[in-house]
Amino acid sequence: MSARIIDGKSIAAELRGRIAQATASLTAAHKVTPCIAVVLVGDDPASTVYVRSKAKAVAEAGMRTFDRKLPAATNEAELRAVIAELNADRAVSGILVQLPLPPQIDAHRIISSIDPAKDVDGFHPINVGRLASGLPALVPCTPLGCVMLAKTVHTSLAGFDAVVVGRSNIVGKPVAQLLLAENCTVTIAHSKTRDLPAVCRRADLLVAAIGRPETVRGDWIKPGATVIDVGINRVAGEAGKPKLVGDVAYDEAAAVAGAITPVPGGVGPMTIACLLLNTLRATCAQNGLAEPAI
Ligand code: NDP
Repeated sequence: MSARIIDGKSIAAELRGRIAQATASLTAAHKVTPCIAVVLVGDDPASTVYVRSKAKAVAEAGMRTFDRKLPAATNEAELRAVIAELNADRAVSGILVQLPLPPQIDAHRIISSIDPAKDVDGFHPINVGRLASGLPALVPCTPLGCVMLAKTVHTSLAGFDAVVVGRSNIVGKPVAQLLLAENCTVTIAHSKTRDLPAVCRRADLLVAAIGRPETVRGDWIKPGATVIDVGINRVAGEAGKPKLVGDVAYDEAAAVAGAITPVPGGVGPMTIACLLLNTLRATCAQNGLAEPAI
C-alpha cells in the first residue's frame, strides 16, 4: 500500500484564500479589519524569522499586524503593562506573545494576563478550560490544523481509535481534546508509556507530537491508518546538509498508512492559516458579528 499524501501546503493555501475573502467582506460590510499585535521580547533569531513569516501571511489575508519589540532585559511588570495596553486597544483583535520569553519572565503569568477574547494562540487558561469543557473557545493553532487535515481524509472521525503521542500544553493535550470533541476514542501517550509501538498500532488516527526525529516506525502503524506528523526536527542530511524530518519515519510509514502528512509541507503550513482563522473569529466575536462560514 502507498499512502495518500495529505498536502498541508495546498490545503492551507486554500484555507488562507477563504479567510482572505471573508476578511475582505468583513472590512467592506462593517469597516472592521482584524489586527494582530505581536509582542517580541529580545532578539532570538528563530523568533524574528517566524514573526516575519507570520506578518507576511497576515498581510496577504488582508489583516493588519504590528510588532511591539521589547529589549531582552524587559521585566515582567513592564511586559504586563504592554499587554494591558493592547488588551484595552479596541483596534487590536489578537495578541501574540512570541515564545520563548527570557528567563526573568514567567510565561504562564504573561499568557494569563492576555484578554482571553484576544488570545489567538489559544493558550490562556480560560480558553484551555473552555475547550476541555466543550464550550466555544479560541483553540491552539497547530492542534486545530491537525484535526482539519485529518478531516480532509475522513468527513467524520467518530468512533476512531486516536492515539496522540506527546502531552504538551501546546500540541498533544489540545489535539487530544479536539479529537475527543470529534467523538474519537482517545489515548494520550508520552515518554513513560509502556510498549509505545503496541499503543500506536491500535490507532486508526495517529498524531505524533514528540519532537524526536523519526521515532514512529513503519511497523508501529496499523495498515490503512491516517498519520499526522507534527514534528519538525532539523537533522544532518546528505553531505551533512541540514534537512527537516518529522517524528515519523516517513518512507516506512507511507508504505503502511492510508494517508500521511509530509514534513515539511504537512502540519506546518496549517499553523499560520489557523492563526488567521482564530483572528477572524476573535474579531467577529469582539464586534458582535456572526462568524463567517469558512
Ligand atoms: P514538547 O517537547 O513540549 O513535548 C514532547 C512530548 O513528547 C512530551 O509529552 C514527551 O513526553 C513526549 N515524548 C518525548 N520523547 C518521547 C518518546 N521517546 N516516546 C514517547 N513520547 C515522547 O514538544 P511540543 O509538543 O512543543 O512539540 C512537539 C513537536 O512538534 C516538535 O518537533 C515541535 O517542533 C513540533 N511543533 C510543530 C509545530 C508546527 O507548526 N508544525 C508547532 C509546534 C510544535 P513527556 O511529557 O513524558 O516528557
